[in-house]
Amino acid sequence: MTTSLRPRDRKVRILATLGPASRSPEMIAKLYRAGADAFRVNMSHGAQDGHAETIATIRTLEKQFNRATTILVDLQGPKLRVGAFASGAAFLETGSTFVLDQDTTPGDATRVRLPHKELFAALTPGARLLLDDGKLVLRTITASPDRIEARVEVGGTLSNNKGLNVPDVLVPMAALTEKDRSDLSFAVEQDVDWIALSFVQRPEDVAEARRLIGGKAALLAKIEKPAAVERLDAILELADAVMVARGDLGVELPPQDVPPLQKRIVESARRLGRPVVVATQMLESMIKSPSPTRAEVSDVATAVYDGADAIMLSAESAAGDWPEESVSMMNSIATQVERDPGYAARVHFTETVPDPTTADALAQSAREIAKTVGAASIICFTLSGSTARRVARERPSVPLLVLTPRLETARRLGLQWGVHAVRTKDVESFEEMIAKAKRMALRHGLATAGDRVVIVAGVPFGTPGSTNVIHVARIVGDELKGRDA
Ligand code: PGA
Ligand code: MN
Repeated sequence: MTTSLRPRDRKVRILATLGPASRSPEMIAKLYRAGADAFRVNMSHGAQDGHAETIATIRTLEKQFNRATTILVDLQGPKLRVGAFASGAAFLETGSTFVLDQDTTPGDATRVRLPHKELFAALTPGARLLLDDGKLVLRTITASPDRIEARVEVGGTLSNNKGLNVPDVLVPMAALTEKDRSDLSFAVEQDVDWIALSFVQRPEDVAEARRLIGGKAALLAKIEKPAAVERLDAILELADAVMVARGDLGVELPPQDVPPLQKRIVESARRLGRPVVVATQMLESMIKSPSPTRAEVSDVATAVYDGADAIMLSAESAAGDWPEESVSMMNSIATQVERDPGYAARVHFTETVPDPTTADALAQSAREIAKTVGAASIICFTLSGSTARRVARERPSVPLLVLTPRLETARRLGLQWGVHAVRTKDVESFEEMIAKAKRMALRHGLATAGDRVVIVAGVPFGTPGSTNVIHVARIVGDELKGRDA
């Protein structure tokens, strides 16, 4: 079945993580129809072979979806994780002693392997060991180069490969592990659109990943360490997008520090025109329940009101019992928020002053003109996507149809607020550009006869960075006669 060409009825994008609950072709298609615009493949779980299959499935479905579909591969990064347990999990009793060692034997309620040699030397007595996003708390009693003995202060069930955060000590961590390097080349070979870098600490970490990616994918820096928050602006300069990775951020820092940081990161990213994704626990209770808590609904709404580019589902769509319902709920919340008459004013609470460039002057004007003449949509011709990003940065109230001859550009724009990107044959003349813009707006349901549309483009065509044309066209109605590739 081929899905209709009509764009989403919402500006914020939905990024859904795929996993055991959702990697079948049937479920990916359901998630897409429910509202997922982009899919996250998480290298923290599973093997490359399985991920290659998932990626191939998305690419096959993309043709049915009839719309450029975005794939983000998320590198695990230097995340500390415990090893495996004999029975998949163990219950750690509060008050008991628990040992972390380097023995590869599967663990139990008294010990488990910790496959990170560096850490044994770095830990000092009294240092906290936060397991599974801080759900379990252990305190170091003694640490030697091959054995950490700790008191269980807050017990619970610990399952295979759960994460470990040690906020009290400085862990000597490289930006990219051996596994990350291998997964990065895998992602590049798989021709994915975005590569996400976990546990970024310094701008240099981003620069290094950027060099390794070599322009073959866009780079998203996950902000989940206090060190990254301190260097936020420099990291934003080097990255193509950022994520407010609230899961680890809220473990490394007190949870009450996260909301103000979320506001700050979203605002800074928007000012620079970098897409920003708000992530983690957005509809957490939907892992087990078909309906979310009111607080979760409010949290999703807040991210939308803040003008984030994308909102993400993690375990809700990857490993929960209600993946499709989670996407559908997120879609409903976002749609409802964007229908609120007060929405535009709240989004524009963050001021994004144009840079003194032609592209920004045109982007700002396009938004203003669309408002003044009551245009149905803004249509933007772009090669690299940069013009589209500057127009999206203006957060216009009308839909933004992006036409590009490059499929990779259309795909990468899938994390961008308000963009409906379509790959189409390049135009060669001004007349052709106008005709095509009108035709495509009609075909994608973004204008009807009698409507005006605002067109932004660069002449000469096919030259990146040449944005210098803004044109208002009126749709008469016989534009559909032309043909397009
Ligand atoms: P993760 O990243 O899901 O890969 O841990 C997001 C976060 O930490 O919030
Ligand atoms: Mn994380």
